[in-house]
Amino acid sequence: MAAYICTRFCVNKFKDSVRFTQRRFRVKAKWAQTRAKFPSTNIALQNFDTTYSMQLGDLWPSVRVAMLSEQKYGALINNFSSTSNIITTDLEAEGCRDFIRPHQHSKDSIPLHRDGAEQDVLKPAAHEHSISPDIKCLVFPQGDISRFKPSRPDSSGLLGYYLLDAASVLPVLALDVQPGHRVLDLCAAPGGKTLALLQTHTVSYLWANDLSGSRTARLRKTLQSYLPREYLEENEIQITSFDGCKIGPTEEKRYDKVLVDVPCTTDRHSVMVEDNNLFNRSRTKERQRLPLLQTQLLMAAIQAARPGGDIVYSTCSLSQLQNECVVQQAIHLAQEEFGISVQVQDLSWFTQWFSDTFYFAPQLSVGELVLPHLCANFGPIYMCKLRRLN
Ligand code: SAM
Repeated sequence: MAAYICTRFCVNKFKDSVRFTQRRFRVKAKWAQTRAKFPSTNIALQNFDTTYSMQLGDLWPSVRVAMLSEQKYGALINNFSSTSNIITTDLEAEGCRDFIRPHQHSKDSIPLHRDGAEQDVLKPAAHEHSISPDIKCLVFPQGDISRFKPSRPDSSGLLGYYLLDAASVLPVLALDVQPGHRVLDLCAAPGGKTLALLQTHTVSYLWANDLSGSRTARLRKTLQSYLPREYLEENEIQITSFDGCKIGPTEEKRYDKVLVDVPCTTDRHSVMVEDNNLFNRSRTKERQRLPLLQTQLLMAAIQAARPGGDIVYSTCSLSQLQNECVVQQAIHLAQEEFGISVQVQDLSWFTQWFSDTFYFAPQLSVGELVLPHLCANFGPIYMCKLRRLN
């Protein structure tokens, strides 16, 4: 009772002191105004410092510096433009090279091996693996941070090249689309990979889908800027805005190849750009739900692939939780819930074939990961290729 009276007395005293303090001497509750404003980019960096220093160990400080430095781009040549050959020649004259075609190591292009050691490794023979001869992506040499000029239209208004992170062409190459294939691009907008897929001239039917209506509109605009109208009209290219998680049952076994380039923490964007940043406090739940969404999208992609068909899962994050864990979880669930057996396909030859251009992470449990590197500042891009067996 004595304690209760004492507490009431203190509370009343406090109320009185607030009520009778002259307005100009009153101190406003400060915490809301003086609380340190944490930019989302800082929150992202703190988060990455904790998780990636454990995941990447000694590699993290150099990857971190690269992610905070200017990113390199590649110019995806538009085969549909009448000036594509001239543009390629001009870019080569500026020192660019097509990173997809095998070439001799020059002295300013040192193989970037997984362990950082500079060694001369024989590239796998071209005939051992199939790479579309039609996709061309030009990059400036290692260490050269020149920027590409904006692409110009040809006489029909088609742009000559599309600028993108050159490593994001790798998931398309991994898909290995062959003539007559039916292809599903489940999360397609704004359309860099869709455009790369169409450069192969092999797709017989393409469904490019993205949940976001505004991003799908961007995708449509991109395709219109790079592909002749007749091509878009004559070929079966469908563009939609559906929830990709829901297409599994309706599209069961319909596609030879499925690309599932999922929404992720977009690590480079998250540490550099405040706008639309997933590390904004208001988006914490959305961020935490990402691995679940990614697993649902990958499950839908597995269902949509025909037996013997391939699925490529990709992200632009370093996160094990969004990469290997999602793939392993989806393989497990596909078997448990649908009786679908899925086999991981080997992409380790990429790490030799493209070692002049990209710096690959040390061996992962499943898939391959391009790490940002100051001499080759592409990525992060994770990719894993799966084959549906039954
Ligand atoms: N593949 C695109 C490219 O190369 O330009 C980039 C795709 S981006 C990494 C991920 C996309 O997934 C976003 O455009 C987002 O709108 C879309 N997305 C998010 N949730 C989705 C869902 N449930 N179904 C389909 N797309 C979704």
